[in-house]
Amino acid sequence: MIHERADSSGSLNCAVRSRIVVPVGIPPIEDGVLVVERGKIQTVARWSEWPGHSRYPVVDLGETILLPGFVNCHCHLDYTALAGTIPPPRNFAGWLDAIVTLKAKRELSDYRRSWIAGARMLERSGVGSVLDIEAVPELLPEVWNATSLRVWSCLELIDLRSPENPVSLMAAAEKRRRRLNRTRSNHCGLAPHALYTASDELLRLAADAGGLFTVHAAESEAERDMYLTASGPLHSWLERWGPVNRAGEGSPITLLERTGALRRRPIIAHANYLSPGEEDLLAQGQATVVHCPRSHRYFGHDPFPWERLQKAEVNIALGTDSLASCPANQGGQPVLDYFLELTTAANSHPTLSPTILLNWATVNGAKALGQAQNLGKLLPQYQADFTAINYQGRTNEACEAIVYHQGEPAAAAVNGRWTIPPAT
Ligand SMILES: [Zn+2]
Repeated sequence: MIHERADSSGSLNCAVRSRIVVPVGIPPIEDGVLVVERGKIQTVARWSEWPGHSRYPVVDLGETILLPGFVNCHCHLDYTALAGTIPPPRNFAGWLDAIVTLKAKRELSDYRRSWIAGARMLERSGVGSVLDIEAVPELLPEVWNATSLRVWSCLELIDLRSPENPVSLMAAAEKRRRRLNRTRSNHCGLAPHALYTASDELLRLAADAGGLFTVHAAESEAERDMYLTASGPLHSWLERWGPVNRAGEGSPITLLERTGALRRRPIIAHANYLSPGEEDLLAQGQATVVHCPRSHRYFGHDPFPWERLQKAEVNIALGTDSLASCPANQGGQPVLDYFLELTTAANSHPTLSPTILLNWATVNGAKALGQAQNLGKLLPQYQADFTAINYQGRTNEACEAIVYHQGEPAAAAVNGRWTIPPAT
């Protein structure tokens, strides 16, 4: 039986006991306890060494692993309803063409439903925080209020074929961002979409604006070929609207550096196709690279160059990307499932240790968001975002069990509030 108290904000004031606590950053604790008060972690300890038994109500999760809520560093929640609508394309340009066509048929209410459904899927797979790219910012802040997740919304910026110039586009985005940041402090950033949809000036203005800055770059072979050799399917697709800006002028990462964006601690989605030495450029810029394992598999990209990035000490985080670029599940439509992203990454990279992968999913994501002291660990003074999965195995295999976990967690909380209450 659970005995717990909640304060007036609905946040738990209790001790959560679990057979294995994986705080991340320090070794797992067998028969551990996490004390939660006012949305924060007060104590993490071994149950037998913790003196507060009589002072706190206890939620005993039994045979579980308790771990930090995941940090999802790349997502497009408003595309959730596009799950299964685009079969894996022959090349990246084919996918872009398909999604542009599909988006044109959708209405605001479709995007709203999609966003909220996607957020619920993330909650149910142990995610506590998400960096979401907002193609439909009109939905904010209404949709923020429909989820318990911590959401960092980055406003998508595109000036390819836009009648507006970059300065006026940025002015409008900044106005919106200021208004939204008053609603939820500093949770709104900027996302110039990609080199092929944002001009140098737009990229520079967005990077210089300060705050969270994210961009897609070096995602596909088609993108690399277009910028290195002015050839390939993406080049042909974009040429329909006239000469392609920067085609043949250099690799995507060097072109991004030219805009000044690499000096602003950018969060770069994908970075799958790097020219020699570019991992060092990314490290110098304190960039985060976000790997999206299932989207990667859907497109059939070359292997993600994680060893090069890791060796250069680039911060690597994990994202789900959207369901518009996600392989079908066996027997049904795909859903956003962070555990499945971990499993896919582990299966794709047999030399990648579960511990490193768990770091990508937690502390590295928190670092990318500028939240290294708040999120991604179960330590005193961190936010009480945690997830529990059923587990009866050995403690030294707990990280592996997390990475290969399937299905819904046994319990989860964000900001000390249950998003998945434990069974009573
Ligand atoms: Zn994306």
